Amino acid sequence: MKFDSALNRRLIAATAQAVISHADELSDLDRAIGDGDHGLNMKRGFEAVMADLDGLAVKPLPDLLKGLGTHLVMKVGGASGPLYGTLFIALGKELPDEPSLSDATHAFAMAIAAVKARGKSDVGQKTMLDVLAPALAELNEGGGDLPQRLRKAAGEAAEATRPMRAVRGRASFLGERSVGHVDPGARSSALMITAVVDVLGAGA
Ligand code: ADP
Ligand code: MG
Repeated sequence: MKFDSALNRRLIAATAQAVISHADELSDLDRAIGDGDHGLNMKRGFEAVMADLDGLAVKPLPDLLKGLGTHLVMKVGGASGPLYGTLFIALGKELPDEPSLSDATHAFAMAIAAVKARGKSDVGQKTMLDVLAPALAELNEGGGDLPQRLRKAAGEAAEATRPMRAVRGRASFLGERSVGHVDPGARSSALMITAVVDVLGAGA
């Protein structure tokens, strides 16, 4: 797939807009099981990304992703900043300039592994990984209805963190009391995946 600067702009803007427009919801989720800053953290990060939109959009895809990840590392803070930064920077390292679906699937798998290593975390611990991993499973499946299945899987996987007990991050301090709330990072991951799919899967 060819990523020109017009497509890059749409991808970056859609992802940033999805996060920024849901900042209050993300902070509300974090207020229930964390310290209430996830929405604000992510909004700050993606505002920095949008301030660099012109610079990022003209870069080849790998450099764009590394640049975006670096903004998140520098601006988001908290636990999620380094983790999302790792995700995007690893994607940038793994993807070629014009990736096929199989390139994208491989790169996403490597990026998830990098997040796991950075967070000393795994699937089932009520984190962003509980959305990222099911999305990877859908990518591995492939198929014509992939955009629809990715959207559905991401939304359902975020919701499926509700009954989980947090084992990593601030929410783990609550132990059993973390049960009954959607994980904020799972929700932000679902929002970003949906935004990317909406742009790339348009017309599918
Ligand atoms: P903080 O918890 O430092 O306030 P944020 O509120 O911005 O940071 O982000 C919290 C989110 O980060 C959680 O909802 C969870 O999804 C994710 N998270 C926290 N720790 C980890 C970890 N070790 N591995 C994966 N994701 C994590
Ligand atoms: Mg927080």
